[in-house]
Amino acid sequence: MTVETPGPAQPCLFCKIVAGDIPTTVVAESENAVAFNDIDPKAPVHALVVPRDHHVNVTELAAADPDLLAELVDLGSRVAGQLADGQFRLIFNNGTRAGQSVFHVHGHVLAGTDLGWTPA
Ligand code: AMP
Ligand code: ZN
Repeated sequence: MTVETPGPAQPCLFCKIVAGDIPTTVVAESENAVAFNDIDPKAPVHALVVPRDHHVNVTELAAADPDLLAELVDLGSRVAGQLADGQFRLIFNNGTRAGQSVFHVHGHVLAGTDLGWTPA
C-alpha cells in the first residue's frame, strides 16, 4: 500500500534547509544527514533528523536506503545525548492522516522531559 502525498511537487522546504537557503539551527550533522531544531517545539529538545538527499517518507527511505535510515536513528541518538540525557522518542509521521505535513522524510527527536503518550 502506498502513502498518499500532496502534489504536485513543490520546492521542498527541508531540501532548502539542508542547502542553507532557509535559516535554521543545526544541532548535529553526519555524512548524509542533518539535525536541526523544530520551529514549533513540543518538548525541551525537539529536533528533526533528515537525510541530505530527498526521500518522501520513512517507508520509501527504508526501501531505498536502509543504511541511511539507520544513520538517522544514530544521529537522533547523538542529539539526545548532546542536548539531554540520551533517552529520546523518535517519531516518523508517515502520510497525511498520521500528521505528516512536510514530504521530505524527517524523524522527530523528542527528549529532555518525561514524555506522555497521547498520539490520537
Ligand atoms: P510533520 O508534521 O511530521 O511533517 O513535521 C513537520 C515539522 O516541521 C513540524 O513539527 C514543524 O514545526 C516543522 N517545521 C516546519 N517548518 C520548519 C522550519 N522552517 N524549520 C524547522 N522546522 C520546521
Ligand atoms: Zn526535500
